[in-house]
Amino acid sequence: MRISILSRSRRIYSTRRLMEAARERGHEVEVVDTLRCYMNIASHRPTIHYRGHQLDPCDAVIPRIGASITFYGTAVLRQFEMMGTFPLNESVAVTRSRDKLRSLQLLSRKGIGMPVTGFCRAAADIGDVIEMVGGAPLVVKLLEGTQGIGVVLCETRKAAESVLEAFMGLNVSIMVQEYIKEAGGADIRCFVVGDKVVAAIKRQAKPGEFRSNLHRGGTASLIKITPEERSTAVRAAKVMGLNVAGVDLLRSNHGPLVMEVNSSPGLEGIETATGKDVAGMIITFMEKNAKKNKTRTRGRG
Ligand code: ADP
Repeated sequence: MRISILSRSRRIYSTRRLMEAARERGHEVEVVDTLRCYMNIASHRPTIHYRGHQLDPCDAVIPRIGASITFYGTAVLRQFEMMGTFPLNESVAVTRSRDKLRSLQLLSRKGIGMPVTGFCRAAADIGDVIEMVGGAPLVVKLLEGTQGIGVVLCETRKAAESVLEAFMGLNVSIMVQEYIKEAGGADIRCFVVGDKVVAAIKRQAKPGEFRSNLHRGGTASLIKITPEERSTAVRAAKVMGLNVAGVDLLRSNHGPLVMEVNSSPGLEGIETATGKDVAGMIITFMEKNAKKNKTRTRGRG
């Protein structure tokens, strides 16, 4: 197969590993810098131009689109889809998963467990929304935050009110969420490929911190997940329409709760902690599934 990896740099661990895994299996791989792709939208014959030349159509594309370039990145991916290239994750699914609120609404429709979550816009409704999620302690999240930045634990109702008022004053979108104390500062990252969880790790926050993000000093370790956790992660990825996803779960007293579904999950933490060749499994999935024009939307979404 001829595979393109949409990524800002070939030096990123995940990009490098996907390149290696594809080459080991005899595929031709090219890393294409997403922000250097440009295209003529009006043309009848969709094409992509890159650093002064037209890209030859490839069989499959692996989108590794960072949160900060979602808008442009999904437009480039859509153009690949219009050319008939098989996307590992399709553009509509990537767009869906990048909107935290929309994702939770879609998961809720399908009855997937999640922390009780409220959303409001007017300062006058703050009191009601705090009640709605069960009062303090609670977690306030900025919708456009990543890597734990913009996730605040409010221990008291007073603190929650002040934080919510402050964020609202800045005109940013926020959600308010029940605090899952029993998770003990840990979450579970399930790496889904197709209809399987191929690897899972537990991420534990450093002492005195409740956010377990590795970027916030959390540590990763191996974990054996339950059948319920496994099926929740697979269903969550499926609801989002993602073939490959990093599904983050919290272990609560009433079962697994989905926090987030990530469409470009990193490989470094999970491969290092589990010793598994996750990149290889992704390429194997593509070998089995990549067919021309085989996307649900073909860029129509
Ligand atoms: P980001 O997308 O910025 O990583 P998350 O929503 O994943 O934000 O939150 C960051 C971390 O904070 C999570 O990995 C988890 O450890 C902790 N966390 C988030 N929401 C809750 C919650 N409702 N209850 C308990 N811990 C939470």
